[in-house]
Amino acid sequence: MTIQWFPGHMAKARRQVTEKLKLIDIVFELVDARIPVSSRNPMIDEIISSKPRIVLLNKADMADPKATQQWLAYFKGQGIHALPIDAKTGTGMKQIVSMSKEVLKEKFDRLAARGVKPRAIRALIIGIPNVGKSTLINRLAKKNMAKTGDRPGVTTAQQWVKVGKELELLDTPGILWPKFEDELVGLKLATTGAIKDAILNLQEVAFYALGFLGEKYPHRLKERYALEEIPEDRVELFDAVAKKRGCIMSGGWVDYDKTSELLLREIRSEKLGRLSFETTESIQQ
Ligand code: GDP
Repeated sequence: MTIQWFPGHMAKARRQVTEKLKLIDIVFELVDARIPVSSRNPMIDEIISSKPRIVLLNKADMADPKATQQWLAYFKGQGIHALPIDAKTGTGMKQIVSMSKEVLKEKFDRLAARGVKPRAIRALIIGIPNVGKSTLINRLAKKNMAKTGDRPGVTTAQQWVKVGKELELLDTPGILWPKFEDELVGLKLATTGAIKDAILNLQEVAFYALGFLGEKYPHRLKERYALEEIPEDRVELFDAVAKKRGCIMSGGWVDYDKTSELLLREIRSEKLGRLSFETTESIQQ
């Protein structure tokens, strides 16, 4: 589901997240491993402020493993804890718990030294729509769906789901908006399927995606669409793909809508393999 964000919605979303932050020890910031920067909320650092956090690169199963390794090194270099995960199959779930313990060790040791009884780590998942928040909550909660009930002193009823003995999650995630003012961000979100096709110019998205693939993954295009070479001109490349896949109307005209749909469907269903649309180099430029 794509949410239409208006200033009022954004302010409300931010308020809701800020309220939830009071209840938790650590934030799990969920991003799309294929576009780790474009799938972030532009104000996230300011909103989370000094709360400990782990960046979870979700959908790592669909991302280019080489790019993901570079992203991990990048985050490490920035002193940010990050983990590649796949919420759909559950890869990386154990590491979420162990990394949380590591990040919060000092705080919990301090509490223990003051005689506070050990308790589970409380966490909140935050991310833009479609990044996989519900999938992750369900995945983590699977083993133990028992809710721990409301916390005393909390006015709005918040439900917690237990993840083993050591972690508790708020059962509703924090939903924040992406940075849509930037056209390129919009195109990347659309390419990965985070934004509904109905609100976009499909051809524009497909042209962007094809141009990107022609530059970064030419061999995948050659293989998938049986192309001898990749024309430098994007329209020529588009036409070549259309012809190979029979997206031609009567009179020999290229069916741009049909070709666009086909391309985006194939990219999103990994027919061109695991792809990342953002690399650490592209961000540093
Ligand atoms: P939310 O809006 O952030 O709660 O996102 P959802 O949990 O509804 O997930 C959006 C879509 O992404 C769904 O179709 C999920 O099946 C899919 N998805 C979520 N996590 C993963 C993942 O790790 N890998 C893959 N391949 N798909 C995922």
